[in-house]
Amino acid sequence: MDFGLTDEQEMLRKTAQDFVTKTCPPETAKRWDEESVLPPELLTGFADLGWFSLPFSVEDGGEGGGPIELALIAEQLGRASFDVAMCFIGVLIPAMTVHRWASPEQRQWVREEIMTGKHRLAVAISEPDSGSDAAALRTAAVDQGDHYLLNGQKMWCTGGGQPNTTIAMYVRTGPREPKHKGISLLLVDPTLEGVDVRRTPTLARHILGTTEVTLTDVRVPKDRLVGPQDGAWKVLLSNLELERVLLSGGYVGAAQATLDEMLQYSKEREAFGRKIGEFQSLAHAMADLQVEIDSARLLTRRAAWMLAQGMSCSREGAMAKLKGSETYANAARLGMQVMAGHGFSTESVMSFRYRESIVTTISGGTSQIQRNGIARSMGLRPY
Ligand SMILES: Cc1cc2nc3c(=O)[nH]c(=O)nc-3n(C[C@H](O)[C@H](O)[C@H](O)COP(=O)(O)OP(=O)(O)OC[C@H]3O[C@@H](n4cnc5c(N)ncnc54)[C@H](O)[C@@H]3O)c2cc1C
Repeated sequence: MDFGLTDEQEMLRKTAQDFVTKTCPPETAKRWDEESVLPPELLTGFADLGWFSLPFSVEDGGEGGGPIELALIAEQLGRASFDVAMCFIGVLIPAMTVHRWASPEQRQWVREEIMTGKHRLAVAISEPDSGSDAAALRTAAVDQGDHYLLNGQKMWCTGGGQPNTTIAMYVRTGPREPKHKGISLLLVDPTLEGVDVRRTPTLARHILGTTEVTLTDVRVPKDRLVGPQDGAWKVLLSNLELERVLLSGGYVGAAQATLDEMLQYSKEREAFGRKIGEFQSLAHAMADLQVEIDSARLLTRRAAWMLAQGMSCSREGAMAKLKGSETYANAARLGMQVMAGHGFSTESVMSFRYRESIVTTISGGTSQIQRNGIARSMGLRPY
């Protein structure tokens, strides 16, 4: 494994860094969060830089980029805020999943609408009674010949309430047992009659917003089925490893920016006639944090590299997701201590980091679920 970046990768990293500086520095991301807005220029900016088409093959209208390049972009966007990174990851991953299993017409739609940034995708798996146990989902889609009739409720659909959005929704088309069978993926237009999308009030992640989607006798045309009917569990899993790699890329960027912010503060703020960064208790804590961040970054790069070699990174991706998210949460907690009263003010970027970091060990699969996967790869059977 090569730890260095190629010239092209370094250029991409720099482009993403410059994009954040110009378009969405952390103070701007914080304001978007407070105002609950997703500025269109963010998504068009991603599309103009070719990032939504990056991983697709040249024949499919893409640029043939791989997991390492995508993780580099996620890391730089994470420096603005993890929510900003999600504006990229949350569209790209479902686009790749849909594209992989799509009909030729659906593939064309992804090329013309999603890769260009005109339209976006959100994902709905979770429900009020099923989160970690995703396969226990119940939202019913009954085959009615030329359409499916949907009834049920989805929770936590990130960005489901944004304009020009289609929801990639996992629904039950078959019996509830065995639970991994009988699941299908449908592309649901949230403006259809019978769909009610409500923003869920949350502590953070307000740029995209998380939504509750209620479905009452919703008629979804048959041509919105993606992949095999009743066989979508493997569709759902098909990009899970890449998703974890990109999430951890975002966490690493956010954690590094958090450390950089507290470090700068600790070099300026004085107490008892010294810079506070000179107090060994704080200096050691920040040194330990840099070790944590570098560990998370290396785990992310390793998992990305494995995917780029065509290898599975089920265990390594879970390790990266676990370490990255916990490192960001630890970083923000330490940042609050270092910045003390100044951090506690909701005017500080640190308070924003603190709010949004808490959910990273929950969304995208909780830390316990990552540990279960890692333990299973060690021959254990955790319950
Ligand atoms: C901000 C945010 C954005 C989200 N975005 C989306 C989205 O876009 N689309 C979507 O479909 N979902 C989304 N989710 C849902 C997310 O995937 C779930 O919240 C997550 O999987 C956990 O499910 P839960 O909240 O129902 O918790 P539960 O599954 O009820 O878990 C509760 C607790 O029990 C623990 N637990 C559960 N099972 C086990 C086990 N087997 N072993 C050990 N511990 C266990 C969990 O780790 C947790 O601590 C989002 C959630 C949040 C908060």
